[in-house]
Amino acid sequence: MTGELVLLTGSTGFIGSAVLKKLLEAGYIVRLAVRSIAKAESYTKSKYPEASITFIEVPDITVDGAFDEAVKDVVYIEHVASPFTYKIEDPEKDLLIPAVKGTKGILYSALKYGDKVKRIVVTSSCAAVYDGHDYDLRNKSPPMSEADWNPVTWQEGLDGPTGVSYCASKTFAEKAVWEFVENEKPNFSVTVLNPPFVFGPMLQNVTKDNVNTSNAIIANLMATGVNSAPTMLFGMVDVRDLADAHVKSLTAPGVANQRIIVSGRLFTYGSLLECAKKTKEEGDAYCNGPDDSAVINKEAEECHGIDYSKSVKLLDMKYLPFKTTISETAKQLVSLGF
Ligand code: NDP
Repeated sequence: MTGELVLLTGSTGFIGSAVLKKLLEAGYIVRLAVRSIAKAESYTKSKYPEASITFIEVPDITVDGAFDEAVKDVVYIEHVASPFTYKIEDPEKDLLIPAVKGTKGILYSALKYGDKVKRIVVTSSCAAVYDGHDYDLRNKSPPMSEADWNPVTWQEGLDGPTGVSYCASKTFAEKAVWEFVENEKPNFSVTVLNPPFVFGPMLQNVTKDNVNTSNAIIANLMATGVNSAPTMLFGMVDVRDLADAHVKSLTAPGVANQRIIVSGRLFTYGSLLECAKKTKEEGDAYCNGPDDSAVINKEAEECHGIDYSKSVKLLDMKYLPFKTTISETAKQLVSLGF
């Protein structure tokens, strides 16, 4: 039991809810900074009736000083909240500004009022690493690594398409982290995690109509049966592995002021579709059966498009197999009506 106080943002979402579970399992006391306490409580009360969770409402993360109260007395911060949606009206207002100002805001609040803060872990993305003009990992030689940066400009972020705007929001939010570290030289350290697509079981409140953006890729494939990118290779990580990386990063030696790609697997849309189909047709017999990742995800299993060795070395990551992640996600999606 650690008993130390952690501030977590984004707990009403897919990744944040998985991080919350791991934090509680590790024995932390958790303060959730949320836009709506009612929304957060709607699942935390039933899932964790006995847990040490408190809430603080931060209605707008773009307001100066939004996190000033939230950071007081906390020892660690997990900053996960950031918009990940393609349903937007204005890329600057809906994606770029909340991503960048939310990230800078929590760092500066910690600088001013977080006397006890030892480390802040920020969820960035491989969207800040990939060159969004060509992110098919078959073409990556040498493999993509932490040395790479998405060269997207703010203007490209404004001009879209939405996927580019999202990648720009993550790129500029992460650049703001490293500028902060360089300029302010804070007493605490910062660790940035860069996951690619994140899939896995959902703990947040979820219905057929509000599946989070990344799991919605699997849901849409299941609903339409259409494989729009038959052979392109993308990175993926199980949400439980990513949550594990978030909690380990709070205290792991060697991760201070490091950027770490957290991505153990690759996939094609074809392999997602096949795994989801088998889950739907065969149910538990398939989910609990042998791991056939090497067969249905063959091309991806044999490709080395992402160098994730830093996560193994510094965080001792052991990644779940493709089949475990996708079949367990698909099983939940079937229960939601897909
Ligand atoms: P979700 O949409 O499931 O969750 C997003 C979370 O961020 C929610 O808690 C949401 O709060 C909060 N949030 C979104 N926009 C704002 C805003 N403008 N102001 C305050 N809070 C906001 O997304 P994920 O859990 O998938 O993503 C979480 C983080 O992980 C993001 O930073 C995303 O960029 C990053 N990421 C995700 C990947 C993925 O494949 N899922 C891949 C790589 C990185 P509310 O409930 O109030 O809307």
